[in-house]
Amino acid sequence: MTEQTVQVETVQNRQTDDAAAMLQVTDLVKHYAGAEHNVFDGISFSVPKGKVLVIVGPSGSGKSTLLRTIAGLEPIQGGTISLDGQVIETGKPGNENSGRAKRPEALRTKFGMVFQSYELFPNKDVLGNITMAPILVQKRKKAEAEREAMQLLERVGLADRAHAKPHELSGGQRQRVAICRALILHPEILLLDEITAALDPEMVHEVLEVVVELADAGQTMLIVTHEMQFARAIADRVILLADGKIVDRSTDPEQFFTDPQTERAKEFLHSFD
Ligand code: ADP
Ligand code: MG
Repeated sequence: MTEQTVQVETVQNRQTDDAAAMLQVTDLVKHYAGAEHNVFDGISFSVPKGKVLVIVGPSGSGKSTLLRTIAGLEPIQGGTISLDGQVIETGKPGNENSGRAKRPEALRTKFGMVFQSYELFPNKDVLGNITMAPILVQKRKKAEAEREAMQLLERVGLADRAHAKPHELSGGQRQRVAICRALILHPEILLLDEITAALDPEMVHEVLEVVVELADAGQTMLIVTHEMQFARAIADRVILLADGKIVDRSTDPEQFFTDPQTERAKEFLHSFD
């Protein structure tokens, strides 16, 4: 048997029902209304508690769609999404136009998402942006929410900018505020979609440093990134998406990024040379 054949077998036979998984995605199908093809035709993977899954793949391969479906921002048309062993979402064919997935509030806040564009409210200051959801949605006391917001700002090095408006901040600072805004809801899983893609190169580091600290603190995360050095450093697991499928996956990120075993991974990683 050649090495290549062995690899293909391990990829296909990899157990996807992971009893210890915090997040389990099984046979996920995603279709957008009017689109000719499904974005995903049945993909499965899991993420254990406290671990970091990095999702890579070419533009248009469905990375953002995957995070959005998991966060409940998009309905799914097949398969299941489970959290802590409980199915929280079951795909229904033909529900493309039903808006976001209908999840109870308590389930929705288990997922925190940070996007490429900061999406901070321009008229609110940093503290106001971070405390809005806990006060309005979770009905937490303002003073208590502000206390926690200050602790989070301290953690990301922005305690002195609590009263600044978003336009007074750099891109890297805004993205760190966006991370605090997600963290204050205590998400079980943090979903990061190319959060440094819109930043000037000198600001990428200050944001990624915060993400590394979160990983060290045991925050479960799904991270979509084009920063391959960062991905290599932070990943516990990696999946490579292409053509609606997971075309490679690894629980050995060091090997995946330095000595990829499949042609698809080699080809993809070469595009960063
Ligand atoms: P990536 O984040 O990997 O670049 P996306 O998840 O944004 O990929 O897109 C995956 C595919 O789904 C692409 O073909 C894209 O054109 C399509 N797509 C993304 N969002 C929508 C949408 N809201 N409606 C229809 N098609 C979409
Ligand atoms: Mg995307």
